[in-house]
Amino acid sequence: MSIQKILKNIFGYDHFLGSQEEIIASVCQKKDCLVLMPTGGGKSVCYQIPSIQMHGTGIVVSPLIALMHDQVSGLKNNGVRAEFYNSSLPHDQRDEILNRLEKQEIDLLYVAPEGLFKERFLHSLKKANVCLFAIDEAHCVSQWGHDFRPEYLKLSEITTEFPGVPKIALTATADKKTRQEIVEKLKLTEHASFIASFDRPNITYAIEIKTQPSAQLLKYIKDNHPDDCGIVYCLSRKKVEKTAKFLSEQGFEALPYHAGLPFAKREEHQSRFINEENIIIVATIAFGLGINKPNVRFVAHLDMPSSMEAYYQETGRAGRDGLPASAWMIYGLQDVVLRRKMIFNSDGDLTHQQVSSAKLNDMLAFCETTSCRRKVILRYFGEMRDSDCGNCDTCLHPMDTLDGTILAQKFLSCIYRSEQRFGAGHIIDILRGKETEKVSRNRHQELSTFGIGSDLSEFEWKSVFRQLYVQGYVQVIESDGYSTLGLDKESYKILQGEDKFKLRKETKTRQQTKKASKKAKKLIETELSTKQAAIFDSLKEWRLEKAREKGMPAYCVSDDKSLRNLVIKSPQSLDEMHEVFGFGEKKIDLYGEDLLIILNNSERQNQSVQE
Ligand code: ADP
Ligand code: ZN
Repeated sequence: MSIQKILKNIFGYDHFLGSQEEIIASVCQKKDCLVLMPTGGGKSVCYQIPSIQMHGTGIVVSPLIALMHDQVSGLKNNGVRAEFYNSSLPHDQRDEILNRLEKQEIDLLYVAPEGLFKERFLHSLKKANVCLFAIDEAHCVSQWGHDFRPEYLKLSEITTEFPGVPKIALTATADKKTRQEIVEKLKLTEHASFIASFDRPNITYAIEIKTQPSAQLLKYIKDNHPDDCGIVYCLSRKKVEKTAKFLSEQGFEALPYHAGLPFAKREEHQSRFINEENIIIVATIAFGLGINKPNVRFVAHLDMPSSMEAYYQETGRAGRDGLPASAWMIYGLQDVVLRRKMIFNSDGDLTHQQVSSAKLNDMLAFCETTSCRRKVILRYFGEMRDSDCGNCDTCLHPMDTLDGTILAQKFLSCIYRSEQRFGAGHIIDILRGKETEKVSRNRHQELSTFGIGSDLSEFEWKSVFRQLYVQGYVQVIESDGYSTLGLDKESYKILQGEDKFKLRKETKTRQQTKKASKKAKKLIETELSTKQAAIFDSLKEWRLEKAREKGMPAYCVSDDKSLRNLVIKSPQSLDEMHEVFGFGEKKIDLYGEDLLIILNNSERQNQSVQE
């Protein structure tokens, strides 16, 4: 079968996306490839289609067992001979799979990196006919990156063990340095690189200042995602528990997930999240790698992530299906202080601490930016954009800026007068003329800067400080668990009036509305009418039932996008169903009749309601 035919007949898609076709062609010519695509970009078919097309078996190395299981269920449901091999399977099943592998009866075999070099597996693999190795989440091989997995290093041995078999390395997160490491460590020879745009146009980005975390979160969910499935990230286990409880009390199906929960509980919550609709999972970052659910509609951060890479990877779990989704975060000074402490109390050597600290600054600069968020993200990953995106908070609600030079001078001279020995909180107290115990103990009410900033609230001064910090005019010095503010060359440029300081005017709640720009709206193919929405709901019910029956996640039966398209195209026959997105031969065989009946019934019910 040609690769186009495979795409249409097996996956039910009409066209390749982005560079999929070139990548597949390259692999089929036995060339090593490096593929960088954002989450939801369509990486999987890049190795699935070659494995189906070529003789022999494609071996897919993937770090998470849950993910393998879902991918294999989805593939089988499309009629592909796919299996996974890992320690979760009973012995006899493992033997059977190895048997079939040797007899070339499997097109795609998923395996964890640590399983690949187990003697028995390797033995069978040598007898089999391997047509390609796909290394998913390839950035795990990089020590520079943030997901390093030592097992991945061993993967370079593939080259020696299986010369001539093409390798395709795939990832959604990799800066230049990580990219180099992937090529070196996986020994990709004379490889072709495919680097897609990192943009996720269907995600709306928004960031607010943290004032009342729970209330802010509740408002965000109620206003934007009252019935949606989403992920809320918190830094600590305690906060995860507290937030999950709070959301449950407010009537949401919210489940906690963190490393402190018993294994069985974690598994249960993860699988409910994957299999059911409308679940909100509240988690530490222990949750998510390999979560493939396409219809996660929002990702919320109650604490600031440690780097732009982490932020982009975590928010990237929203909207894999390409439909509108949102990423929302709140942050405050406490986050920065906490993160800094974590870095400087870590065991890492000095270089590592410096790298982490630089990454944190980039993250903070992103939070504080007055320009289009998407532009900042993409620039971080090396992509330059000229125009604003129209689908982030700063684009939707442009921020006012004003000349803040005098405010900056007040703040910096207060640091100078108090001898660069205090933190931001105390400096702000002096500026606002607050007679605290610490102020009197240090006789700071006698300073010339005491009370010169009483016209600004504490909230506003904090904002001045953060922006000074981000723009490099204030130094934060950490020692013995305390942070003090200091001045350097750059600070004097402001104090002497050489540099002007542009300040963003902060409102307490930067609003977020549902209204995305026209460009973003185009992504929502068509809004469903009430009638259509009702049919869509019946289809979702049917899907849930099928999923339970088959013991697989709902989205493996069919994803939202396909069901929506089914409603819109409303096919009257199995033949017409070939026109629907996501319906290949096998799926039509399996479910076609059922679905026609549901569509017909709903249609009739709708009519009788109207009569
Ligand atoms: P990634 O692994 O890059 O995150 P996936 O391979 O899971 O992305 O694909 C993301 C979504 O895009 C899936 O829902 C998939 O079915 C869909 N998809 C992939 N290729 C195509 C295509 N050629 N046409 C339409 N949809 C596609
Ligand atoms: Zn924008």
